[in-house]
Amino acid sequence: MRYHSPFDRPEPRLVPAGEHPLWDEALAAVNRDLAVTLPEQRPLCLFAVPWEEGEPDQVYVALANGEWHGNPLWAGPDTSAHALEAVAEAAQDTVSERLWQAWPVCAVHDLGMHLREESGRPSWWCAGTTDPKDPPHIRAAVGELETLQRPHRPNRKRRKNSARG
Ligand SMILES: [Zn+2]
Repeated sequence: MRYHSPFDRPEPRLVPAGEHPLWDEALAAVNRDLAVTLPEQRPLCLFAVPWEEGEPDQVYVALANGEWHGNPLWAGPDTSAHALEAVAEAAQDTVSERLWQAWPVCAVHDLGMHLREESGRPSWWCAGTTDPKDPPHIRAAVGELETLQRPHRPNRKRRKNSARG
């Protein structure tokens, strides 16, 4: 079942690298976050659908299988930060709606995060819990979740307290 082509629209096409350099760059950052949070997912990509005559194609952030959810990216003069915010938002819509799960999730609180601007950079914000020791916090700038999750300790093999010690 196709959710995104209600009528006889032309088939979406995969947008080749280089057609929208700012979006490519933004998508690479978002895909880094996807790779550390949902490693089984293939990278997101951009799909374009022809719009009206004389108008630029509408571009969506889609799963590798070509499914997406939500609005197209706004094709206008843009900055890196704005492009990153727009792509992250579109990616979040697509991943959470198509895969039926909150994304990305704060690894500390197990809560879905939201986009917020922090020091001029789009970032992932977590609401924290009702416990005053767990206030709302910025987890990481978009594209930098890997810097938090990389130092995974290997499974501990030694136990300090051996049952028969
Ligand atoms: Zn959190």
